[in-house]
Amino acid sequence: MDFTPLLEEFAEAKQNGFITTKELKDEGKKVIGVYCGFAPWEIITASGAVAAWLCGTSPATIPDAEEHLPANLCPLIKSSYGFAVSDKCPYFHFSDMLIGETTCDGKKKVYELMGEMKPMHIMHLPQDFSAPDSFNYYRSQMVRLRDAISEELDVEITEEDIKKQIKIRNKERVAVRNFYEIGKLSPPPIWGFDMRRVIQATLYLSDKEEEIRRVEELTRLILEDYEKNGSPVPADAKRILVTGSPLGEATEYIVKIIEENGGVVVCFDMCSSLKDKDELVDLEGDPFDALTKRYFKHGCACMSPNDHRMEMISDYIDEYKIDGVVDIVLQACHTYNMESSRVKSTVQGKETPFLHLETDYSEDAVGQITTRVQAFLEML
Ligand code: SF4
Ligand code: SF4
Repeated sequence: MDFTPLLEEFAEAKQNGFITTKELKDEGKKVIGVYCGFAPWEIITASGAVAAWLCGTSPATIPDAEEHLPANLCPLIKSSYGFAVSDKCPYFHFSDMLIGETTCDGKKKVYELMGEMKPMHIMHLPQDFSAPDSFNYYRSQMVRLRDAISEELDVEITEEDIKKQIKIRNKERVAVRNFYEIGKLSPPPIWGFDMRRVIQATLYLSDKEEEIRRVEELTRLILEDYEKNGSPVPADAKRILVTGSPLGEATEYIVKIIEENGGVVVCFDMCSSLKDKDELVDLEGDPFDALTKRYFKHGCACMSPNDHRMEMISDYIDEYKIDGVVDIVLQACHTYNMESSRVKSTVQGKETPFLHLETDYSEDAVGQITTRVQAFLEML
């Protein structure tokens, strides 16, 4: 059976999610807006609310943001704030409350401004997850988050509610991970651009049981097609790992450039990608302990030191038989930009070529990026 129609459904998930969220709102459901991989989805949805992903990845609202924010700020922050201040994002519009985290400086400060628009709860994160007191601190923030949501939405959230959501989220992690792992095949059964569209869509599907069913179905259909018809990807395509700041609509063209010039992206190590999925939350014992343990392992460059990210990249290079690593960093994203030299050492230490690209959400750099990607792929 052809898997293309199912793939197309995923591509439309964000737009369709607007309608679903509006319908859920009309039925009386609450919506909680989130901006970061450190927001524990399990606690948010245990309240009965829908978690809505609000990160802005379009250049369209940057002019709105620049009326209030400095221009030399990361485009993701400007885009997100622009959507909020212009009321152009339905997910933001429907949100009853927002969750922010103390990650990079730009986000921390923009949350102060957003807190004037909607009720905002800030989770204060430790900056060094290996420090002895960090675990208890982050755990206490998980408990505070539960209390803040309970108070704001006037609902009770029990440990059993949270455990139920941990179970669903774990099931989703397994389904998405199995989908991702088709990238280990050589050549892979689908292009990385399509793979990314599916993963991105999962952020906007609020019915997780339905999402899991569809991801499992898609994985099955792709593998059946691969067995029958082989891969659409040439056998000599260079296998690329993409890492760096979060990728979005405005920057995913770089994946296209890689794939139009002799490469194929088989692994993404970015926020909301594989690194989110490779470990499950423990279902036994205290749910706050278990969530803290899991969310500690996010590998975000806002943490210092960030050894876990280096370990993950190193493992992915082996597991996905990577020929080259492309590090895509957003302009003015100091955390990922600064960490790039450490990533480069890790990658080159494994005798794998490395390319660092810096971009914003404009199309100004397309020509230069295309030339650099072409040269990199030719060299592999
Ligand atoms: S990259 Fe880090 S700060 Fe940005 S959304 Fe992901 S976890 Fe949060
Ligand atoms: S891309 Fe970098 S600067 Fe922008 S919000 Fe994420 S961590 Fe902060």
